[in-house]
Amino acid sequence: MTDTIARFIGFSARQLPDDVTAKLRELREKETGALPKVLYEAMFRNMELAAELSRPSCQDTGLVQFWLRCGTGFPLINELEGLLREAVLQATAETPLRPNVVEAFDEYNTGTNVGRGVPCVHWDIVPGWDGCEIYTYLAGGGCALPGYATVLMPGEGYAGVSRFVLERLTEYAPNACPPLLVGVGVASSAETAALLSKKALLRPVGSHSENERAARMERLLEESINALGIGPQGVGGSYTVMGVHIEHAARHPASLGVGLSVSCWSHRRGHLFFDRELNCTAASHAGFQP
Ligand code: SF4
Repeated sequence: MTDTIARFIGFSARQLPDDVTAKLRELREKETGALPKVLYEAMFRNMELAAELSRPSCQDTGLVQFWLRCGTGFPLINELEGLLREAVLQATAETPLRPNVVEAFDEYNTGTNVGRGVPCVHWDIVPGWDGCEIYTYLAGGGCALPGYATVLMPGEGYAGVSRFVLERLTEYAPNACPPLLVGVGVASSAETAALLSKKALLRPVGSHSENERAARMERLLEESINALGIGPQGVGGSYTVMGVHIEHAARHPASLGVGLSVSCWSHRRGHLFFDRELNCTAASHAGFQP
């Protein structure tokens, strides 16, 4: 299992998930300006070369994050955290991944992509199930910059949520290598909203919230952000985002928490599933052989 995850992290550093590649292809066709077209050609050439030369598709291979949906009956549940840490060490040496982990306050690079609290592992435990889903995410530095969470006065309402997202992206979207995938969390408090906004980035690109009103807001925000005209890599264009995903939780009547997380065009999100015999499938990357 460790070897499979390590190989998958390396694979996902070189090759984008199938849904992201399809979306980028669609946006490349839809953009009409000369400069955006040049940029999309450069992105696709970059992806071809990454596969051909077996090298990461961006020099910033990010901080590795894991989001687990693990059944209580999964046989390796107790070993998982150690095993994921080992997989990151292996992937760093074998891919290789750029060492990106700097210990806070002591300010030195560990050189291994492992450090205090890194890789971070988020757990959803599923009672009575024996499978394990692992979402991998290589979080680049530039696309972390727009990230923000706050608590609005409830009277600001959903217009306040939209204003928060649009103001933040007007200022920071060009730093994050658009076209972006935008995750928005709506909850009671800042930390819950922030986590939900990151979780929203794990959904397939272009999927919509099961809540009709939230889905409508996803569409409206997508149109509004595109209308800013920032375009691919900030050179101007009709499409600044690959999509907007909203995740939400119930809230206190006196608070409206909102969080924002963003991923760049190089959205290196992966999805593995292990059954109790450790048979593995990679839903996000059809080309990966487990
Ligand atoms: S924002 Fe994404 S594409 Fe841009 S440098 Fe960072 S990881 Fe690479």
